[in-house]
Amino acid sequence: MFFESRKITVIPGDGIGPEVIAAALKVIDATAVYIDPEIRQAGAVAFADGVESGVPRETIESIEKTKVVLKGPLETPIGHGNKSANVTLRTLFETFGNLRPVRELPGVTTPFTGRKLDIVIVRENVEDLYTGIEYMQTPGVAEALKIITRAGCERIVELAFEFAIAAGRKRVHCATKSNILKLTEGMLQHTFEEIAKQYPGIEAKHILIDNCAHQLAMRPEQFDVIVTTNMNGDILSDLTSGLTGGLGFAPSANIGSDVAIFEAVHGSAPDIAGKNVANPTAIILSAAMMLRHIGEGKAANDIEQAVLVTLESGVRSADMPGTVKPFTTDEFADAVISNLGKVSDGGPRADYAPVKLPPRRDDVASVPVRARRVTGVDVYIESTLQPQELGDDLTAVTARTSFALQAITNRGNTVYPVTDRSVSLVDHYRCRFLAKARSAEVGDPEILALLTRIGEVHQWMHVEKLQLFDEHDGFSRTAK
Ligand code: NAP
Repeated sequence: MFFESRKITVIPGDGIGPEVIAAALKVIDATAVYIDPEIRQAGAVAFADGVESGVPRETIESIEKTKVVLKGPLETPIGHGNKSANVTLRTLFETFGNLRPVRELPGVTTPFTGRKLDIVIVRENVEDLYTGIEYMQTPGVAEALKIITRAGCERIVELAFEFAIAAGRKRVHCATKSNILKLTEGMLQHTFEEIAKQYPGIEAKHILIDNCAHQLAMRPEQFDVIVTTNMNGDILSDLTSGLTGGLGFAPSANIGSDVAIFEAVHGSAPDIAGKNVANPTAIILSAAMMLRHIGEGKAANDIEQAVLVTLESGVRSADMPGTVKPFTTDEFADAVISNLGKVSDGGPRADYAPVKLPPRRDDVASVPVRARRVTGVDVYIESTLQPQELGDDLTAVTARTSFALQAITNRGNTVYPVTDRSVSLVDHYRCRFLAKARSAEVGDPEILALLTRIGEVHQWMHVEKLQLFDEHDGFSRTAK
């Protein structure tokens, strides 16, 4: 009899990666699904071979072909030098959504046991501070760009709602810091509120990220699906892993419109690598997510049930507190295999429908506006002058330009024209110039003339145009 097999790319990874990946492959093998793994390298081995991105060409080619990856953890070189192979994979294949489900597991005792936690964090995975665009603005002042796009917000919010529908979930929270970051974090909130209207069957709620963290510690059972930006999601999803038993139990999926990468949340745990003691639950549950993604929902459910039954039967891994006789990685996988086909005491889970993914866009995303104009410019200046001196100087500089100096801020605090504040100053001033004629538009020649004049007497390092889109500010106002 001939069974069709599905090619997937398997990256064993570093540290405990090869051990837990072998366990997951063994479990998949024991189901009725036939997969044909293409084993490829990434991470430490690739860096050692001089591959700067940490992901060799053969691995990229395999993923381009298979579109589905089961991945072990990859070591990230700390500090200078090589970039993260994980980030390379995420950005290369535009896996824009990171799904991190956590749930209460039998036998995995936590302070929250009994509250039936079942939460999924949907984390935007490629934008935000993780674009990694950083500059030293002065020798002592560093800057990172937080890039949030409308297109990025749309697809992560759609993914969150589509996932909620597919998984039969009832509520989606959107967690942001929109009270402070009105344009960036605010964009996710506004997009969420608009798109939520298309999903009347799902309760949609916005929550500030700090309150969300607090609520997760106090009453986590109120959450179902939480969609959030990259940095917030990074932190929240580790927090939720902690609520339900820790890294050894937390699976994840990096979802793109073309490619999906499934991996445990934990890293390479070098301290226990090669000892056959790592807990394979996280990667086995990640493998179940992968099977569901490729349309093998029954095998996915079977594996999830087998993991629950295994834990219910008293099988323990070394990372579970109070374990006297832990199962090895291999033994744990064998126990899961022996329980395939059994149903957990908690009963079968509702089957998932396939998640409808936002389609890949080939166009260059842009938001149309009816009118736009530039009303001024922020010039960042490196100076050790006191604000009053700098302000007087710049006022003189603008004498024969189209601009007037409106304000100077230092790390967001207005220090000119206000002088009565006790702000600790650094040599990094944002100087805001507005067009002298109110409602006038300024163009590049005027801006360049201003920069030339400033550059004759001061060191400037960064410029931002102040734009109005349909008469809405495209910039944050300075505090009075
Ligand atoms: P980690 O590898 O997750 O390990 C932290 C600790 O958690 C381990 O020392 C171990 O604790 C425990 N642990 C993690 N997974 C376990 C498992 N499956 N079974 C049992 N115990 C487990 O975090 P890290 O030490 O911060 O990172 C190590 C390397 O992994 C770094 O290079 C990091 O960049 C990389 N990393 C990669 C990924 C990824 O590829 N997605 C994710 C995170 C980190 P005990 O000491 O108690 O045994």
